Amino acid sequence: MGAHVFVVDKFSFPVHRSKGFCGVKNPRHEMTRQGLYADIKAIRKGDLIFFYHRRIDELPEERGFRGYFKVISEPFFDNTDIEWSENKVLGSCPTCKSCYSEKEVTCLACGNKLPLITIGRWQCTTQHILPNRILIEPVEYFEKPVDDNTAYLNHTNHGMLWTMLFRKIFGPGRERSIAHILPEEAEKLIRLARRINDDSPTTFPSSPYPSTNRQAITVNIGTGGEVPYESALEAWLMENIDKEIPVLSETIPKQDMEFFGNNILYGIGGDKIDGLVLYKRDIRYKVIAIELKRGKIGAETIKQVDRYSYWIAQLSTANAEPRPKSLLLQPLVIGYKVSGDTLLISARRQDKKLTIPYPGEPCEVIIKPPILLTYEVGKGGITLIKRI
Ligand SMILES: [Zn+2]
Repeated sequence: MGAHVFVVDKFSFPVHRSKGFCGVKNPRHEMTRQGLYADIKAIRKGDLIFFYHRRIDELPEERGFRGYFKVISEPFFDNTDIEWSENKVLGSCPTCKSCYSEKEVTCLACGNKLPLITIGRWQCTTQHILPNRILIEPVEYFEKPVDDNTAYLNHTNHGMLWTMLFRKIFGPGRERSIAHILPEEAEKLIRLARRINDDSPTTFPSSPYPSTNRQAITVNIGTGGEVPYESALEAWLMENIDKEIPVLSETIPKQDMEFFGNNILYGIGGDKIDGLVLYKRDIRYKVIAIELKRGKIGAETIKQVDRYSYWIAQLSTANAEPRPKSLLLQPLVIGYKVSGDTLLISARRQDKKLTIPYPGEPCEVIIKPPILLTYEVGKGGITLIKRI
């Protein structure tokens, strides 16, 4: 089961919570939009949702992680405005009806400002255009959020919000509106929320999301050859990663699949991998780390794989419960073409072993030679070929 964090603010949170949906931006630039589709296409019914209530002018204890909820629909596009009390989440610009999301406080299509408030020298909109949506229902709802210090710094509770921490360090404005978190990170958030709220979930007023004209969200993979953007390949992969697609389902088997996600941060400088899949049978035992190339897979991609292996192995084991004593790390690269040199380098590769010297019990990691797949966009969609 996956778990995801949606970024909200004090204006949008009550609407999302009480009308039972998550809404995300609809960027005007198609490359960015396909990236957002990748994020939303990685979500499945039954996955857990937390909201990250970011700061406008609240005190630290009034913001942070809120939750938690369960996904009950496929993602969809809906340009309906949704209101709750005095707050509103927009489906389109109030002036020109464009469905592209605002930049700061301004509609990109007509240049008019959305409803806003001024705080000091800073203007911020109170209504965001968020037409890409998914329906949710509460699982356990807690009044007090898990504030940042408790979530990231307090070491009286075990575990660490590894992938979210780097997202914070990455800096304001760089954060994506959806972040996928590892199962152990979701467990930690639930533990903290229960502790801060004395294990007393509560209820909130709500009314159902209206029946509206909902449209499917479609990934634009192009018409032939290469995908138009790498983010489109990422979105296609997230949509199909657990489906029966030839080559894909043999390379990324569904059995024992514990988690999958795109755009996972693991390093301090914002280092990320395009995709991560975890496998568990009582204990986590395997990781597939995915790198995507819109064009040619070259020798530098293989170097990149070597660079992240140690950190991905740690990311996948450090906070897992129970902590694995051994792990198989399978790098996977998908690109349009692959150079002959790269095929040769990869073919000569053998298993590499490394030990993570955790205090108490070390973890033995075997890094497999990378699997290289090439893709081709055709009339029937994307087909994959295993090259090595
Ligand atoms: Zn407008």
